[in-house]
Amino acid sequence: MGTFRAFVLRQTGGRFSAAFEDLPQDSLPPGDVLIRVTHSSLNYKDGLAVTGKPGVVRTFPMVPGIDLAGTVVESSSPAFTAGQSVVVTGCGTSETIWGGYAQMARMKAEHVVPLPEGLTMVRAMGVGTAGFTAMQSVMALEAHGLKPGGKPVVVTGAAGGVGSVAIAILAKLGYTVVASTGRAEEAGYLKSLGAAEIIGREVLSGPGKPLDPERWAGAVDSVGGDTLAGILRTLAIGSSVASCGLAGGPKLNTTVFPFILRGVNLLGIDSVRASNATRRAIWQRISADLPIDKLDSATHTAPLSRIQELGEQILAGKTRGRTVIDVNA
Ligand code: NDP
Repeated sequence: MGTFRAFVLRQTGGRFSAAFEDLPQDSLPPGDVLIRVTHSSLNYKDGLAVTGKPGVVRTFPMVPGIDLAGTVVESSSPAFTAGQSVVVTGCGTSETIWGGYAQMARMKAEHVVPLPEGLTMVRAMGVGTAGFTAMQSVMALEAHGLKPGGKPVVVTGAAGGVGSVAIAILAKLGYTVVASTGRAEEAGYLKSLGAAEIIGREVLSGPGKPLDPERWAGAVDSVGGDTLAGILRTLAIGSSVASCGLAGGPKLNTTVFPFILRGVNLLGIDSVRASNATRRAIWQRISADLPIDKLDSATHTAPLSRIQELGEQILAGKTRGRTVIDVNA
């Protein structure tokens, strides 16, 4: 029985610790699909987990890393065969299920999808949970009537992972995209992804009336807090915001006026509990509608050995786009 290298979070006597360990293969939790992991990614939740912040990890010891891509070593599920390339995105990984910051993983088949058409493992992790959630948000907006050709769609937390991928997808689909960012210096990057206009963070998060002029045909919001309140009071009649994150805070201080006078919709986005069929449908749309050149320009790769420093950076809002993690480096 071989060993594999893993980044392991432990809590002993109430004290959090994080370190690289060589674990025996039989220490992996039960599951249907044994995967040799090559890449993972860095999401906001990964930042919380690896730096010991509360709210993500529910059981210790934990191998964090909410995403992973790799090759099937063995499978007791007929859905997968040895040698197949597969992808897992947030499904309780890093919460109660061991994740991708390790050279090996064992997963339930319901959480695994085949490597999507047209993507490499690196690109699939360039998408990762953040990009998956961006597409899930766009699909929710479409299901509630969003169509190209009207007012602009605003994307908040624009230079982050969810934001960058959402801009690239929406621009490819023909929407006029307005990017809301706290980093004016990223304007060139955001325009290169397809944003038509850049607005400062404070435009949406500042004070306003219960209803302000209708500005948006839709919104993808990974920031929450006052930013989400600002979106709600400026959404056009009958339009929707996909609320998928809380990088700016979890509290929502708003009024009911946008709902009862403009019929706007507040759509909750939860990527973790998506069924296997939903996961496959979302990845299919990613293969079709996320331009690879834009994904590549929003992605860089970093070694797992730097994960704690990278975790601090994403929590500080200093990471641009998506970070792929090479688990063997
Ligand atoms: P990133 O850190 O990559 O992006 C977040 C962006 O939000 C930052 O780049 C920054 O963009 C902006 N931001 C950061 N801090 C603040 C602040 N204090 N006030 C306002 N804006 C801020 O994270 P991800 O894209 O990976 O995740 C974004 C959010 O989405 C997180 O809250 C995450 O937990 C959530 N999420 C939810 C999922 C779900 O299933 N619902 C799945 C995946 C993520 P800029 O500099 O451009 O302003």
